Amino acid sequence: MKDDQCIFCKIANGEIPSSTIYEDEKFRVFLDLGPAAKGHALVVPKEHYANLAAMPEDLLGEAFCTAKKTVLKMQAAFHPDGFNIVQNNGPVAGQTVFHFHIHVIPRYEDDGQKIGWNPGSLSPEEAAEICAAMKEA
Ligand code: AMP
Ligand code: ZN
Repeated sequence: MKDDQCIFCKIANGEIPSSTIYEDEKFRVFLDLGPAAKGHALVVPKEHYANLAAMPEDLLGEAFCTAKKTVLKMQAAFHPDGFNIVQNNGPVAGQTVFHFHIHVIPRYEDDGQKIGWNPGSLSPEEAAEICAAMKEA
């Protein structure tokens, strides 16, 4: 399944050129055009799925294994100090391309990036309420 309007369908399937690190039958891994750090790559399935919830489970597992492969290659090539694995779902969460993808972001001590959130607080009552709602869902 491909979406004619989707840029990642076109890149993943080679219709638009990309800086490709790795490719197999199901995935293409290419460099993000707006990198957070040197080597920032995207793991993109060749089939179109809008987000994590839409991904078939076996393909999702393979996507994360492909992210690990990318991490190992990046470790060998650039020896980063750490990694962030980022996967945005929905505009409110920062998703801008609505074709599932995993960001593999190598981190370097001096990269000056901040990837995170402002920690809130969690009362025991709220924790109980959330757990109950999630267990019932
Ligand atoms: P997200 O915000 O999680 O949907 O991530 C989309 C990412 O795709 C952003 O980090 C963009 O920099 C990147 N991006 C968008 N268009 C291209 C493109 N043509 N080639 C490579 N990366 C792209
Ligand atoms: Zn697509």
